[in-house]
Amino acid sequence: MASQPPTNVGSTDSAMIHVEFTDLAILQQQQQQQDQRKTGAHEDADDAAPSVEARDPIYFGYYALLTHQQNMLIDSVRTSTYQSAIMQNHHVFQDALVMDVGAGSGVLSYFSAYAGARHVYAVEASNMARRIRQLLARTDTHNTFLKDRVTVVQSKVEDIKEELPKVDVIISEPIGVLLFHERMLESFVYARDKYLKPGGTIFPSSGSIFLSPFTDAILYTETMTKVRFWESTNFYGIDFSPLFDEAKDEYFAMPVVGHFDPKSLMAAPAAPYAMDFTTITREELLDLVIPFEWTVSYTGLIHGIGGWFDLVFTPPPIGDELGSTVSMSTAPNAANTHWQQVRFLLTEPLAVNAGDVVRGWLRCRVNAMRSYMIAGELVVNETPISDPADAGVTEALALHVEERPKWLAERVGSRRRGRWMLHEQTYAYSYQPNAATDAAFKPEFACMYPPSN
Ligand code: SAH
Repeated sequence: MASQPPTNVGSTDSAMIHVEFTDLAILQQQQQQQDQRKTGAHEDADDAAPSVEARDPIYFGYYALLTHQQNMLIDSVRTSTYQSAIMQNHHVFQDALVMDVGAGSGVLSYFSAYAGARHVYAVEASNMARRIRQLLARTDTHNTFLKDRVTVVQSKVEDIKEELPKVDVIISEPIGVLLFHERMLESFVYARDKYLKPGGTIFPSSGSIFLSPFTDAILYTETMTKVRFWESTNFYGIDFSPLFDEAKDEYFAMPVVGHFDPKSLMAAPAAPYAMDFTTITREELLDLVIPFEWTVSYTGLIHGIGGWFDLVFTPPPIGDELGSTVSMSTAPNAANTHWQQVRFLLTEPLAVNAGDVVRGWLRCRVNAMRSYMIAGELVVNETPISDPADAGVTEALALHVEERPKWLAERVGSRRRGRWMLHEQTYAYSYQPNAATDAAFKPEFACMYPPSN
């Protein structure tokens, strides 16, 4: 999936610039629930997780449109990776019962049938399910290989009323920005636990998140230019400057989605944070802590953290058939996908010297916006690192309520903290991958200075 950022109804796709601001009512409701919990109401962990249901009408309304399915279908890296994973492992699909979780246009169901599946259950909650049915109603003359091979189930996978058999394979594309935005992985994991036969296969099998520090004075300056609007002391006679600090927090809390130049990275990415979809639990998905450590390659300024992911399809060996592992990357130096990459800006850059070791963590907790509140810390060299459990991620909502978060303001020279709202994505279009050729670019153009001997 994954072309959808629930709040900015638009999409993770760069063509979508429609921005709808946060639904305050939902956030305030979540804040109230958290306040109630603080005041001692006893609820189990499951109840405590903000539910996604309030957003469902907007979320599934988005996916009901052919336009948005098309947006994903034409991501050729994405679609061809799925097709390769299925066709190169047709032994896994041959005569298998398959469930396609979040079938959308049905494309993965069709690939599965093509690879020899005995039958496919195409589960789709949105009205796009009707389009799958329309396509299947024409199998006398079109796509004859699909005749009687696919059953459409229009329901959230969590709410299926009819008895469905357990399946040999679950296929799904539940991936959002930075892998987990949209919270559809929870539905994927639900389907695995309820519908997969023991020893069955889930595709994709795993995903990994990569984080790396970047420098980008232009992006920082563009962001500050927007913030500085709130410095106006005489805007049609109004002094807006009392809101300057809040504006700064809000702008810097917006993850910047877009392709960026891999040459702006100040260090090789940290060891990947791997999610094994065959074993990860829903509870684990609700509160993720992603540690990182980088040895920086350049002297310069870290303006923030860049992130991307990869996806891996690992087939189980069946008899003599070993199949092939298929993977795709959304890294800045890989072919573009509609997920692009994401950058988390720091309100104050972190100065580093080549060879410094920067350590830190991102703590990501689900919210009611089908997304995550993220808190993070970076420290240089021997500076003691704090416990992510103390990050107070839930307080991030204060950005939209009343108080300015205190946690953010705490820092000493070699420590930076940030908080970001993964649902409030903003977009960066300024980077033209072909504008600067490799030969023309030199690190010092971006104020990145390699160590001298
Ligand atoms: N599989 C298609 C569509 C991926 S987009 C493709 O690869 O092109 C994800 C789809 O999952 C959307 O159409 C969305 O409506 C659907 N979806 C999301 N959560 C769901 C859930 N819990 N149950 C059923 N469908 C869901």
